Amino acid sequence: MSTRELNYWLTTAEIRRADLASPVPDRVDVAVIGAGFTGLSAARTLAKRGATVAVLEAETIGWGASSRNGGMVLTGLKLGVNQLLSRYGRELAQRMYAASLDSIHCVQRMVDEERIDCDFSRCGHLEVACKQRHFDDYACQAEVIAREFRHQIRVVPRSELGHEIGSAIYYGGLVDEFSSGLNPAKYVAGLACGAMRAGTKVFEKTRVTKIVRAGRDGLTGWSVSTSRGQLWAREILVATSGYTGSISPALRNRIIPIGSYIIATEVLSESLARELSPRNRMIYDSKNYLYYFRLTPDRRMLFGGRAAFFPESTSTIRRSVAILGRGMTGVYPQLRDVKIEYVWGGTLDFAFDIMPHAGQRDGIYFALGYAGHGVAMATWQGEKVAEMISGEKPDNPFREIPFPSAPLGLYNGRPWFLPLAGAYYKFLDWVS
Ligand SMILES: Cc1cc2nc3c(=O)[nH]c(=O)nc-3n(C[C@H](O)[C@H](O)[C@H](O)COP(=O)(O)OP(=O)(O)OC[C@H]3O[C@@H](n4cnc5c(N)ncnc54)[C@H](O)[C@@H]3O)c2cc1C
Repeated sequence: MSTRELNYWLTTAEIRRADLASPVPDRVDVAVIGAGFTGLSAARTLAKRGATVAVLEAETIGWGASSRNGGMVLTGLKLGVNQLLSRYGRELAQRMYAASLDSIHCVQRMVDEERIDCDFSRCGHLEVACKQRHFDDYACQAEVIAREFRHQIRVVPRSELGHEIGSAIYYGGLVDEFSSGLNPAKYVAGLACGAMRAGTKVFEKTRVTKIVRAGRDGLTGWSVSTSRGQLWAREILVATSGYTGSISPALRNRIIPIGSYIIATEVLSESLARELSPRNRMIYDSKNYLYYFRLTPDRRMLFGGRAAFFPESTSTIRRSVAILGRGMTGVYPQLRDVKIEYVWGGTLDFAFDIMPHAGQRDGIYFALGYAGHGVAMATWQGEKVAEMISGEKPDNPFREIPFPSAPLGLYNGRPWFLPLAGAYYKFLDWVS
């Protein structure tokens, strides 16, 4: 069987389709743009507080990164802990790290409250060192995280790494038992059902094309043009992540869309699966240009990475089969003769400071910039921004940091520099 260019997770999930016949409402309290983790988590929270909410989605529920990701529910942030401390100082960095831990609880709470059958499991994550120097830094990282953030992670020396991974190429590892795994398509489907049960209306195939300030009945608000008609909203939340476009130019100019690609093998035997990942961890390596991998609940090896820096297209997806296949057998020679059944890609959202950002800009609420670390953080940010919109004052340290645009303003949403960035990261991986 040849490889199917299809998101494997979607073959396992039933995502309730929104009613395409009903027109968009004339007026809502909040229009949420984007039906991924951020938008749906926010919509659920808002609707539970009594707001009328319309989620406007250009494609279908979960169409963006939320159904396509590795399903790794990870602690921490993309930025390393030492950089976090030196850039933001102790107090803010501690609140950020605490938020990352709280975001895991937030996902678990969603799963429990909405009874989402998405194979959520507190299986922990394993980072593996590609160089001795990377491993040497692990003890320091574990010490900083214990001292500054009161969180325990465990260094695994090379001699004991066989208990964690069936690969001989790494110099050691770092385990965080707090991290979790899930099936992202089932999770986003469950979040959508939860939001709809709370009273949210979701409109699929409804692309927002323009947002203009417009008062109504003495209230300030927004006129929202969509491919299925016009509506008026008191507030707007942009939750479009790596797919952010021209409707919100200030956000688009602050977010770099970067492609990430995944292959999934055929179902493996129980013994081979246990040999590859004896503790069923969510695994990623220590490179900038990194690989991330895990077993699926039905025992496929799911192996992801940046096979191309550009957002997904038919050609980058096609090329990924060979590139990621080589990467996978480099890690696991045992998989040399195993069939790759699925390949797909999706778009990540990197801010120029590699941090998540949330808040209000020009009157419009937003939350994005998860940098490949968004399963938990997007769910959490959705809740926090919804609380803000409801007039509460949730602690959200990511609101307080500057949201930089491109150096010298050399960016208008077209990432012309991605091939250079790709080459630069490969160079860094070579020298560091
Ligand atoms: C291949 C891949 C692997 C990943 N792996 C992991 C992982 O293992 N762990 C982890 O923590 N994170 C991972 N991530 C990141 C994570 O998936 C994202 O951070 C998260 O899903 C972002 O959710 P979101 O709701 O903000 O955005 P998305 O899920 O991307 O949703 C945005 C939506 O906005 C819609 N939209 C855009 N413009 C408009 C418009 N004008 N009108 C209406 N709708 C619009 C899009 O159609 C899209 O559905 C991965 C991402 C990718 C791509």
